[in-house]
Amino acid sequence: YLLKPMNCPHHIQIFKAVQRSYRDLPVRLAEFGTVYRYEQTGELSGMTRVRGFTQDDAHLFVTPEQVEDELRANIELVRFVLKTLGLGDYRVRIGLRAKGSDKYVGSDDDWNAAEAALLRIVKALDMPHTAEEGEAAFYGPKIDFVVRDCIGREWQLGTVQLDYNLPRRFDLEYIGADNKTHRPVMIHRAPFGSMERFMGILIEHFAGAFPTWLAPEQVRVLPVSEKAAEYAKGVEARLRAAGLRVTADLGSDKIGARIRTATLDKVPYMVVVGEKEAQSGGVAVRDRVTGDLGTMPVDDFIARMASEVRDRRLPNG
Ligand code: ZN
Repeated sequence: YLLKPMNCPHHIQIFKAVQRSYRDLPVRLAEFGTVYRYEQTGELSGMTRVRGFTQDDAHLFVTPEQVEDELRANIELVRFVLKTLGLGDYRVRIGLRAKGSDKYVGSDDDWNAAEAALLRIVKALDMPHTAEEGEAAFYGPKIDFVVRDCIGREWQLGTVQLDYNLPRRFDLEYIGADNKTHRPVMIHRAPFGSMERFMGILIEHFAGAFPTWLAPEQVRVLPVSEKAAEYAKGVEARLRAAGLRVTADLGSDKIGARIRTATLDKVPYMVVVGEKEAQSGGVAVRDRVTGDLGTMPVDDFIARMASEVRDRRLPNG
């Protein structure tokens, strides 16, 4: 066991552990890897800047001919992640070298090829972007997704980086179709970046009110009175069996107070049950935001939830 600041060298060692043929490529290694960085005390902040965090990191070892397709697929992956989570307001920043700086490794030819490839792909995908000198990683240029949250702050989240340099420094190779050795190209990618940071931003973005498919508690069952408690427990069991994250609040507070508590807890749905529902086998459904949705059979409510979760529906979406 050892503490690591990044995952790249470890994936490189895995790639290097056996001889690779062009037929094996692309080799894609992914890991939720915990990394440690001794950030300055003044820079630490909540969950967004911490000293130990988890990267959804992957390294792709590809032939030069595969670079464009793999880059494109990874950019699409980041776009899919952001869109699914309702973080659609972002810009794309291409990080290039700062001219004249000595903090970068590798040859000018490799840098020029890598920078040109990134610009070409972003243009081909018709993505609004800015190119900023000095924002590259030390081993290669990168594409960062800079996301604007609900209160207008910008966060750098997903990243895709193109790297001709570490393969050279670690002397990586594969056997080509010509039976000679060739140098692979590496792509570093992390759609979420840091999971901790992403979660922190996501919680603030939704102001704690997660869409149903993400909410830790999706439904709360509320019996109107003690008389409906048994029926409420039965409803809870059916919802749980249907795969929903559900609790029942059988507390002694008045029903109005328990509805208020569930609303403040930001549970997306409440089902209220009394003797009437117990007799009809139904549930009175309340949406946290829009309120009363009327009474429906339990199976109808389950079907409604299943489709909302399956479509990963977002508030206002
Ligand atoms: Zn890396």
